[in-house]
Amino acid sequence: MFNKLINNILFHKLSHCAGLCSAALACCLGLNTAGGQGLDADAIRDAQYASMHNRLCPGPDTAPPTITPTLAPPAQVFDNFYMLGEPGTTAWALTTSEGIILFDAMFHHNVEETVADALREVGLDPQDIRFVVISHAHNDHFGGAWYLQQNFGARIIMSVEDWEHMHTWPQLGSLAPFPHYDTAVGDGYTITLGDTTVEFVLTSGHTPGTISSIFPVRDGDNVHYVGYWGASSVGFLPPEGLVEYMGSADRFGRLDGRVDVPLANHPWVDGSLFKLDALQSRSAGEPHPFVEGNDGFKRWMDAIHDCAGEVLEQKLRESR
Ligand SMILES: [Zn+2]
Repeated sequence: MFNKLINNILFHKLSHCAGLCSAALACCLGLNTAGGQGLDADAIRDAQYASMHNRLCPGPDTAPPTITPTLAPPAQVFDNFYMLGEPGTTAWALTTSEGIILFDAMFHHNVEETVADALREVGLDPQDIRFVVISHAHNDHFGGAWYLQQNFGARIIMSVEDWEHMHTWPQLGSLAPFPHYDTAVGDGYTITLGDTTVEFVLTSGHTPGTISSIFPVRDGDNVHYVGYWGASSVGFLPPEGLVEYMGSADRFGRLDGRVDVPLANHPWVDGSLFKLDALQSRSAGEPHPFVEGNDGFKRWMDAIHDCAGEVLEQKLRESR
């Protein structure tokens, strides 16, 4: 009875999906292929770009993603790199020989659960957090900084501009206490913890001092470089902010030919939840779903740049 029902549903869907190529067919059918059956790399990429366009620059032709992610953090993504957070916002833990570098601090109201408990869940100790790199001073990313400073003695790193901006920008949603002033960095600064160095790039636009980061991650014998884009939404920016954002996106995309892992702090920007599903069903020797090559990284940064350009065009049209 159950099988017959499923067959009927599949039949109706098949009629609707007729004519699509095989990669798109699984998506059109709404088949969730996570959990051991493998996800097609093209389907992941399509979903990644669709979800970004939907949130960053929705236009009349924007289609929703064709697959639905089933997994949420925490999870190990590379040998020395862990995804933390929740489906809407992420923080990331980079393990080194001398402790943990955390990228972004989540909200004040959920940092204990989404960072501290999540680290324990993947077998790490939040007491080992040495540095917390805050990509920009909005309270979905700096909100947990005070808690991490108070409870684990973590050093908080932000750009010079955003230490300032944090105090003047009106917070949205759950209000966060400000962390005590700590380490300020600028363009080209690095931090080294044990065997690992992180480089910072000033990518202003989303905030006056958004910082993006470049750092190595390991997958067995292979070393890859993450390009961690610190900014996200553009809809609230005035035209001059959008122009600044576009310049930053363009520069970050071209800066370092080693970067082959596009990453951000919201899954709708980097498609990380789709990739997490694919990672879980990855067999030995298969490509890592988070690794897209330097061309893939550039393509992603170009898409972010162009999205901001579309929003700019829209705003300029409206103001005429
Ligand atoms: Zn923000």
